[in-house]
Amino acid sequence: MPKGLSGKKMIERYLSTNFGGPFTPIDPSQFKTLSGAEGMIKSRAVEHLVVFDDISKQAIVAGYGSSSSVGVPGGVDYTGKTVTHNHPGIYGGTLSFADVTFATGYNVKSMRAVGANKKEGTYILRKGRNANPTGLNSRIAKDRPMLERKMTAVYNKHKDKTTVFFAQEYTGILDSYYKSVVSQYGYVYAKQGD
Ligand SMILES: [Zn+2]
Repeated sequence: MPKGLSGKKMIERYLSTNFGGPFTPIDPSQFKTLSGAEGMIKSRAVEHLVVFDDISKQAIVAGYGSSSSVGVPGGVDYTGKTVTHNHPGIYGGTLSFADVTFATGYNVKSMRAVGANKKEGTYILRKGRNANPTGLNSRIAKDRPMLERKMTAVYNKHKDKTTVFFAQEYTGILDSYYKSVVSQYGYVYAKQGD
């Protein structure tokens, strides 16, 4: 049985405020395509990050972090890039605050999180043609305290925080939020393969 992330690890993933997590670089050329990369990293026990250039279609950055985070290396222009990573655990859940803040702050084309559960697909935040990344970034910053309050209430309600049931409800707050809000800023929130 794959072990769920502890409640503490879920909090680390979902309430982290920066992208300064651990990052150990690996050779990006082992990842030939986006779907191939996502298939490879889906079942890894630690978070892996792979960045694709949309023009060359090649992976330009790859590395791994811990079970609850992966850092994003500096010195890379992320504008217009496709950034994917995996969320390990019994149920990985959707994009975290740090993921979405990074995606909008660095103006990436698409930010993707591959959930570890077989029944989960890939969660995707994609820029539309007239997207307003700054607007979405500020909106999330403004709504974050309200979302955190809801997430904390779910956290406190569950005795066992290692179950799929807990993780689904905890991350479901963000999932519903993205569904209703990001389109107002010209973004698309989608789930692939679930
Ligand atoms: Zn993430």
